[in-house]
Amino acid sequence: MRRFEGQTVLVTGGAKGIGAATAARLASEGAQVVVADFDEAAATETAERIGGRAVRCDVTSRADVEAAVAAAAESGRLDVLVTCAGIIRDNLIHKMTDDDWEAVIATHLRGTFLAAQAAQAVMTQQGSGSMVLVSSVSALGNRGQANYSAAKAGLQGLTKTLAIELGRFGVRANCVAPGFIATAMTQQTAERIGMSFDDFQATAAEQIPLRRVGQPEDVAGVIAFLCSDDAAYVTGQVIYVSGGP
Ligand code: NAP
Repeated sequence: MRRFEGQTVLVTGGAKGIGAATAARLASEGAQVVVADFDEAAATETAERIGGRAVRCDVTSRADVEAAVAAAAESGRLDVLVTCAGIIRDNLIHKMTDDDWEAVIATHLRGTFLAAQAAQAVMTQQGSGSMVLVSSVSALGNRGQANYSAAKAGLQGLTKTLAIELGRFGVRANCVAPGFIATAMTQQTAERIGMSFDDFQATAAEQIPLRRVGQPEDVAGVIAFLCSDDAAYVTGQVIYVSGGP
């Protein structure tokens, strides 16, 4: 499939994990991909591997995000935005610090707001475009993740509002909500609770109906579908990619 031939794509948090798999999938289908990430070295490595371009971007910075969108839209077009940048700062509510709260809200909610706002300015002008925001099953609540759950639930509301406001300009916005995906993020959780990553994945898999944890490519495939014309009449939706209902 070459569903993104001639299209320009921006993936925030595109250096690693789900973002890198998404950047690779969209590039393999013909897209010109800009990989925007805090981690410039990793962004450059990913971009070189997929034949894209890298930009250093902290999504909490309006100037960085606007520069990343401008770089992706250099040709005058921006067809797809995928917002994958994310962090966790897990703690039970009585131990959660202001910093834990602010950092997570700033990265996920403010970061996605800034990217969506900058992208819509280009997309509404051209009369087309598609955004996919990355939420989580934690949007439904998860012990130790008050900050992350609040941010990920907020992204679902943001997605629906973008869909309502931007539909008349031919711009779609959808959301994926992954479950356990094997990335540096889940590895960080395993380290925090003192489990090997293999044991952590095996324990998690026992609770998942499909009896395995997800891989970044499992999410990338759904994101690619939502960005593509195969989903031309789908907007404002949240698709859980979690190996179960
Ligand atoms: P990951 O491998 O850690 O990738 C996240 C990327 O975002 C990293 O390259 C990270 O850079 C970058 N990033 C962090 N803060 C940033 C900022 N301020 N500006 C720009 N880039 C920033 O994690 P992942 O698992 O692929 O997560 C991708 C998205 O999926 C996140 O939104 C996450 O919340 C969501 N998600 C993940 C899972 C899961 O189980 N893995 C489940 C549900 C949802 P650094 O490494 O330098 O911090």
